[in-house]
Amino acid sequence: MAVKVCKFGGTSMADGNVMNRVKSIIDGDKDRKFVVVSAPGKRYSGDVKVTDMLYECYKEVEQKGSCGAAFALVRNRFNSIVKELNVDFDINSVLDETEERINREKSEDFTASRGEYLSARVMAEVLGAKFVDAEDVVFFDKDGAYDAERSDRAINEAVRGAARAVFPGFYGRGADGRVKTFSRGGSDISGAIVARAVNATTYENWTDVSGFLACDPRIVESPRRIKALSYKELRELSYMGANVLHSESIFPVRKANIPIHILNTFRPEDAGTLILPSVYYTPSGNIVTGIAGKKDFTVIFIEKSLMNSQIGFVRKVLSVLEKYDVPVEHIPSGIDTMSVVVESAALKDGKLELILQDIKQAVCPDTLRVTEDIALIATVGHGMSSSVGTSARLFKAMAEASVNVKMIDQGSSELNIIVGVRNEDCEKCIRAIYREFFGG
Ligand code: ADP
Ligand code: ASP
Ligand code: MG
Repeated sequence: MAVKVCKFGGTSMADGNVMNRVKSIIDGDKDRKFVVVSAPGKRYSGDVKVTDMLYECYKEVEQKGSCGAAFALVRNRFNSIVKELNVDFDINSVLDETEERINREKSEDFTASRGEYLSARVMAEVLGAKFVDAEDVVFFDKDGAYDAERSDRAINEAVRGAARAVFPGFYGRGADGRVKTFSRGGSDISGAIVARAVNATTYENWTDVSGFLACDPRIVESPRRIKALSYKELRELSYMGANVLHSESIFPVRKANIPIHILNTFRPEDAGTLILPSVYYTPSGNIVTGIAGKKDFTVIFIEKSLMNSQIGFVRKVLSVLEKYDVPVEHIPSGIDTMSVVVESAALKDGKLELILQDIKQAVCPDTLRVTEDIALIATVGHGMSSSVGTSARLFKAMAEASVNVKMIDQGSSELNIIVGVRNEDCEKCIRAIYREFFGG
């Protein structure tokens, strides 16, 4: 029998009316047995997500020792949800316990996780399903990585005999016994963890768009829907800013080859997008599958004659970044030049200056230059490796749009071309590349 795990994102949990839609989607297919939910998201533009309210609560706890005013907003939000749903559920006593535990635990992760906890409690009530707390079944090891074997066992034990179960996304329990969250958007990973544990036939990820689109719909109007993409393409696109699905969502389901189906809660009849392991994926015939971009990177450019013949040059540069605990995104290089691309946020509080000093000392470069405010744009597709002239088309499109190329990195996988442009050119560049490969 088919078993589906369905994850519903923040906009699908935003208010009582949408939660009723979610109920009819779940009731509409008997295979939809396991549900993973996010915290309530925005109801309209300018609204505040519950998770963001909770981060504010934690600030209040830090400053005043307990949260009062900030938690009142969360309380109001859940009270109005329960009222709209018209269910007989004493949400206020759950909220009282939650507030008390937030004040006692004094943990940012615990506080942030309560949006998912509360929406799962409500959804379990709406569906008449079993509530399974993620802190009892999703485990992290001492390095902070999710412990697949232990979580699989606990999830299966928890759902044994239950017709349907609801799990809160976004968090689990750390090796120290305390609640720990994934990075933002991490309920997508929780959905994948449950899908793997129950050996689901499909992992359905329900959101507010009708699938993975060829680029961000906030940048290009109605971009083309991608019918199917590979796990690898998903990694490249979501890591580079297509945050419709968290880039780490494929790791739990990869071993079991479980397809991920992106669907729209507001248009459940739409076909959506399938994200497939290589055993099921057949290329679409398109050269480019999608385009994504991310802002705020810094490029450290290093030039030194005969760099290539100096054994250990790259290692010395990278050791400096390691010393300051700065992750490296890309290292495009030439014969006498190399660039190191890092997220600007990792260089704050004077780290950049210290790193530059250490690089000077370590390798005595002829030139050392820093360019800030860089956006990286990834053009991704399996079709690119077999098609001649793709990069020529890409650079011509950028030139015609008067976008200045600051950096180029064609990954060795031949799955993507990454260009660095000024932050303010990011949207213009994505539009130009989209027009070149998709028309319109
Ligand atoms: P959820 O709350 O359901 O998890 P998210 O906000 O995390 O939803 O993701 C859905 C949003 O991702 C869409 O509303 C859209 O604005 C944005 N998005 C960015 N890039 C893409 C893309 N390539 N395809 C579809 N949506 C995208
Ligand atoms: N609620 C969390 C966030 O806002 C996790 C999620 O939505 O997936 O990041
Ligand atoms: Mg999301």
